[in-house]
Amino acid sequence: MDDSFFIRGPGAVQLSAADIEERVRALGSEIHNDYRGETLHLICVLNGAFMFISDLVRALDTPLTIDFLSVSSYGSRTESSGEVRLTKDLDQSLKNKHVVLVEDIVDTGLTVQYLLNYLWGRNPLSLKVATLLSKPSRRVVEVPLDYVGFEIEDAFVYGYGLDVAHLYRNLPFVTSQKD
Ligand code: 5GP
Repeated sequence: MDDSFFIRGPGAVQLSAADIEERVRALGSEIHNDYRGETLHLICVLNGAFMFISDLVRALDTPLTIDFLSVSSYGSRTESSGEVRLTKDLDQSLKNKHVVLVEDIVDTGLTVQYLLNYLWGRNPLSLKVATLLSKPSRRVVEVPLDYVGFEIEDAFVYGYGLDVAHLYRNLPFVTSQKD
């Protein structure tokens, strides 16, 4: 990964709307080139990925369908317990589809691990993961991430779909929390 996408220093994460726009556009081209005209089926993990996926699909010059699911993980705001629960299931079948799971952020990796197991069980043709943000230093389980917007250090971030107690999702940028 290009070093410019790695933001150093806890408490120092700042991704401007322009940074995000440029990177999402690049991810769109990368995905377009990988699938070469195949129809894609994108799965948005609610709630955090809603803004990322809405920009990503507009950056994708590829025929595609979209579905939504929602998970909640037990535990406190900043510490996932690893117990993941599906709170909204998919509406469409995954059979014979090229699926891309679209996440806001991968922290411990437990949510993506759970979702990959769940989604593979529904017989997609292929399954990849796109995430806007990844915190590699926090990983508890290794998960395959095919498209990563930005790797960041261990800091709690919000904005651009990510919340603090349900607030701030509408910010057009990503920033780290100052307590
Ligand atoms: P994981 O299962 O990888 O530990 O956690 C994934 C989920 O935890 C994300 O989808 C997100 O909901 C939440 N999460 C992890 N880190 C952050 C963060 O820095 N900010 C916010 N707002 N949510 C986070």
